[in-house]
Amino acid sequence: MSRLVMRFADWTLTTDPHGGPPIYATECTTCAEVSSASNDKADPEIWCLRHAGRTGHTGFRATTMTFFRASLAENTR
Ligand SMILES: [Zn+2]
Repeated sequence: MSRLVMRFADWTLTTDPHGGPPIYATECTTCAEVSSASNDKADPEIWCLRHAGRTGHTGFRATTMTFFRASLAENTR
């Protein structure tokens, strides 16, 4: 006979204090060229403007990478 035991717990998700600041980057949606990743949001934005001026490409995808940490919530019951 098999037996399955399942435990449920409450988890919370918070910003990881050891994960570092957000990392920003952009990608051209026409040619897929990518900017450098930067902790300063202005760097990839300036890259978009320079890329548009150089190529005439006007569409970009922006990504922001942040870090989270899951932890068990304290039981308040
Ligand atoms: Zn492009």
